[in-house]
Parts: sequence; C-alpha cells; structure tokens
Amino acid sequence: MYFSRHFVTSAKLFQQVNNHLNKSKIYASAMSHSVNTSVTDQQNDMYFGTEAINRVSFLREDTEFICNSIKHPAARFIAFSKTNPLINKSLKEKLLVFTNGDNQIGSKKGLATSSDGRIVENTWTTAVHNWCEDNRNESADLRSHGKPVFLFLGLEDESVGLKLSDLKAEELEQEHSDIPCDEKYLDHQGRYQGIPYFAVDVTASPEIEEFLLAQGQLQGGSPTGEGTGDDSPVFFTRSRKHYLGFTHKEAALYSHGKMFLDWLSRNLFCPGCGTKTIPIHAGGKLKCTNTKTTIKRDQEVSICPVKSASVSNVSFPRTDACVITAITSSDRSKILLSLSKRHAVTKMYACTAGFMEPSETVEVATKREIWEETGVVCNKINIIMTQPWPFPGNLMIGCLAVVDFNGENEVIHLDNDKELADARWFDTELIRKWIYENNNIDNPEGILLPNPESIAFSLIKMAVDQRQQKL
Ligand SMILES: [Zn+2]
Repeated sequence: MYFSRHFVTSAKLFQQVNNHLNKSKIYASAMSHSVNTSVTDQQNDMYFGTEAINRVSFLREDTEFICNSIKHPAARFIAFSKTNPLINKSLKEKLLVFTNGDNQIGSKKGLATSSDGRIVENTWTTAVHNWCEDNRNESADLRSHGKPVFLFLGLEDESVGLKLSDLKAEELEQEHSDIPCDEKYLDHQGRYQGIPYFAVDVTASPEIEEFLLAQGQLQGGSPTGEGTGDDSPVFFTRSRKHYLGFTHKEAALYSHGKMFLDWLSRNLFCPGCGTKTIPIHAGGKLKCTNTKTTIKRDQEVSICPVKSASVSNVSFPRTDACVITAITSSDRSKILLSLSKRHAVTKMYACTAGFMEPSETVEVATKREIWEETGVVCNKINIIMTQPWPFPGNLMIGCLAVVDFNGENEVIHLDNDKELADARWFDTELIRKWIYENNNIDNPEGILLPNPESIAFSLIKMAVDQRQQKL
C-alpha cells in the first residue's frame, strides 16, 4: 500500500520532543486576548479567525497533492461528528489533533501505526486510501454510508509562523543517527513546504468514530484535572464552554472545519434538480451527481440547471454576513447596550446584530438593524473588525455607530421588530469599570457583558477606550 513508502518509524522516536510545536504553543498563548489587546492585534488575531494555516486553496483540486498530503506521516487531523469536535477535556489543549506517524506531536501515537511504532494496514489507513481513490475519481461513493468525509484545511507553513529550519534540523539529526525517522513536513515541488491539516467527519462512519475515540484515549498531554472521574474525558463536544475555551489556534482550526463540514452536511441534494451531491476537491466544492443530458440548440447539456450553468456547475461554501455594532454618543460618554430576548435570563447586555440583506451595504444594513431593534437613528458608521462565528456559518462585521444626541435620535423604541427585551444607554465610565476593574461595581441587577472571545466584547471595549482618549 502507498502508505508504506512514506512511513519509517521507530518506537524510540516516542521520546523525542517536537520543538516546533512547543514554540507554536508559546506563540498562541502570547497572542491570547486580554483587556490590554489593541484593536490592531484583535484584527490580526481574532478568536475563530486567527490565520493558523495557509489554505493553499488552489491545491484542493490537485488530487496527487491531496493524496500525498493525507498519507504523509506528519499530516494532522481533527475529527468531527455531526459538526461537534472531538476533544479531551482533561487536557490544557482540548482539541484532539491526530497524526499518521508516531511522535509527530510530542510523544503521541500515530493513527497508522501499531503499538510498537510500525506502520500497519488498519481501519484508518484503509479508509484514507479508499477516500483518496474516491476523491481522485469524484466517485458518487464519497458520501456512502460507512465512509468518513475528509476536508483539506491547508498547510501550516512559514507564512503562519512554522519554523521550517527547526524541522529540517531535526530530520538532519535523525539521518545521522541509527534511528529511522518520520518525515516532519511535506515538500510539494520544492515550493509548498509545511504540515498538511485535514478535518474528518465521522458522522456516517461508526467504525472510524470508534477508532478515533479509542485513539483519543491514548493521546498524552498536560492534564488539567477536569474530567478525571468515571466518565471518559474524550468525546465529541456540543458545549460552547469548550468552543470558547480553545487556544486561538485550536479555535481557528475548529471554526474552519466546522463551517465547511456544516455546509457539506446541510447540502446533501442539488438545489437545481434534487439529485444527490458529493464533496469534490477535498471538500472545497459540492457537485451534483445527475448525469442525464438533453439537447438544447444542437448541443448536449445536462438536464440539471446547476450543472449546465454557464458560470459554474458546482456549489461553493457559504458564509452568511451579519452586522454587529457598538453604539455610542458623539463624545463617547454614553453607550447603548441591548438585551435580546434569548439572553434575557442571563442578563447579558450586548451589541445590536442582524443578518445583512441582499443589495445592502454594511453601513446601510447597520443603520437599519439599529433602527429596527432600538428605534435609535445613527449618524455615522465605521467598520472596525470582523470575526468568523461558526454557529453555524456567519461572518460578523463589527462596526462602531455614532449617534448625535438631539432629543430625537437617541430615543429608544423597542416595538418595531420586538427582538429585544431591553435596551439602555449606559454611562461609558461605568462599563469601563466593569471591563477593567470589577463587574460588581454599581451593578445591583447583575448585568453581564459578552464573552471576551466575542467580537461584541471587543467592540464595546473599543468604545470605552475611545472615551478615555477623548478625556
Ligand atoms: Zn443537479
């Protein structure tokens, strides 16, 4: 089998440490957000949106590249079932990341190896091999029951901080020893060098799900003490507590995989003819499997209107644009926060937000949403930063809206679309104390602000910081 060409392993390699990954961890923790993070830093390292890998999207349709990548010893895999990610909640870095070969992450065991570190044909390698063939042939079996769905995420390379020289040094060191080594990184045509990342959806494959759950139990790491009771700490989580507790790199990988797999799982049938669709180009596109044709203007064309379209015969992943806004007075002394009916119980006051409509600019959509929800009329909109929000596939476009107080613009009226339970103008100074000092100060109602990982928090903090600059 093709795998054996790549895999040269030794149990002794278990003891070696992957310096690169340790450096990545330091980088990720240094970039974690705090109240002291600047707007520029947030723009460059937004939770869920950190540039963790180079997507090299043009290589998705190169089936040889994809095949080499997914079978490479250093390939990384994150797993999902029904779009829920596989985690080990007892580890500090909870998102489980697997590799094919041993010792590619610390001292972890590879998916394609036996207990003594040798490469074997097993459940995993067979599934990968079969998927490669299906992907190469754009087979209708790509979504057959029993088969996992793979999605190519990209390459971790030097453009996102990978220290290739460290990996090269490790390989050189191992070449001069009598210990055989796994390849530490993929080299494609001498031009694209890095570590390939994939997501795997096991929803239709109980066999691979069971295999990965068992492998997850074997992964080492730094225990946190959580989940060490009777229940297994390894499971596919549905909890936002876990989604919002990842490192920035984990959050980006999770969000990337989740949004693509969610799109694939919600679009099982062609919107033009109702025939089954299959994911092609390693999960990057959906293709209708209808092969029937008809004659139109002396030409043979597909009877499926999507397949016969002149612009494109496939469907592309979808992102839904939402506007989300912190609203302030011209002098920033007041900030308008709103309580949605959904969050009424938790008393979490946040930004106004809503989906953009076709043929709206961001600015017009923002003004419309604010007026519809709060009755307030805005005079100026600035686009500040954006955040992917994988619940299920949104892009939050964060704005700051300024209201010129004149006795009318600022008047709150909740009866337009009735989405809000409450909206209030707060003194910005009070919100500053809640963010920078203590949420209990002058807060008898126990009002909460949004989670620090959310763009809503970043926008509110920015409005507060601007007030300080004006004083
Ligand atoms: Zn179709």
